[in-house]
Amino acid sequence: EIEQFVKHYVQGGLWGRRQVLRAVDGVSLSIRKGETLGLVGESGCGKSTTGQLAARLLAPTGGVMRFKGTDIRELRGGAAKELRKQIQYVFQDPYTSLNPRHPVAALLEEPLRIHGIGSRRERRGQVREMLRTIGLGEPYEQAYPHELSGGQRQRVGIARGLMLNPEFLILDEPVSALDVSVQSQILNLLKDLQQRLALTYLFISHDLHVVHYMSDRVAVMYLGKIVELSDVDRIYEQPLHPYTQALLSAIPSEHRGRKRERIVLEGELPSPLSAPQGCAFHTRCPHAEERCRTAAPSLRTVERGHEVSCHLV
Ligand code: SF4
Ligand code: MG
Repeated sequence: EIEQFVKHYVQGGLWGRRQVLRAVDGVSLSIRKGETLGLVGESGCGKSTTGQLAARLLAPTGGVMRFKGTDIRELRGGAAKELRKQIQYVFQDPYTSLNPRHPVAALLEEPLRIHGIGSRRERRGQVREMLRTIGLGEPYEQAYPHELSGGQRQRVGIARGLMLNPEFLILDEPVSALDVSVQSQILNLLKDLQQRLALTYLFISHDLHVVHYMSDRVAVMYLGKIVELSDVDRIYEQPLHPYTQALLSAIPSEHRGRKRERIVLEGELPSPLSAPQGCAFHTRCPHAEERCRTAAPSLRTVERGHEVSCHLV
């Protein structure tokens, strides 16, 4: 559970004019054990930053995170170390996160070595088993990252995230760097692993098809805030926030038996350095009213399990 996560960057301007970049601006989410929560939005909306905060790769400016009921700020020593194993982050492009000078076996063994798990022989055994689990066999043990295809590298990236036997994986655009034909293999592998290993996913992507395929629930972000959150079917069938409506109008909906009109947003995505006052979406919203310019709506439950942040809903 994350509550009111905030990540602000203060940028020193000329002559002491300081600007605040509100990358994440009050995000609250709870993710249920065993589910996949999809986090969507345009690039720069703060979804990766939210994931990195949840993985503790970044320190929040404010907010609380609880893991299985425990406020993680209170964990010290062994408990903190244990938590580090439980929550793992998988990067978009494993090519930049895998050390090119190490063969696959060494890359997978590293997290175990760092945490002092097992003898060398036991670790080798675990690496071998993991390579089978992710659909690469023994022959890949001595391969170097540059010898692998994009899909194989992402399998290694996922395997590395799984070596410590985590419960919660944050997947940041895990298939965005891959060819479409390879994407579905990796998505199916992720679904299969989730079943077999009882994993919980935060699935970050800008690709609405991929998010639809993977998620149980979906949260939509705009300029550092969540604007809508609901079950995947409900949000794809009946989006209520004008921003979600515009996003989803861009994907065909024949399989849902209804034609949706394409909503084209006017104007550009504002910079998070100068997010508009009031509702941050008002500069592009087709339904904006006077009050939208001055008062920021808050995320409210409009029906069971469906939250929306809009004055009109
Ligand atoms: Fe549009 Fe106003 Fe709703 Fe914001 S609050 S999404 S500007 S109608
Ligand atoms: Mg990103």
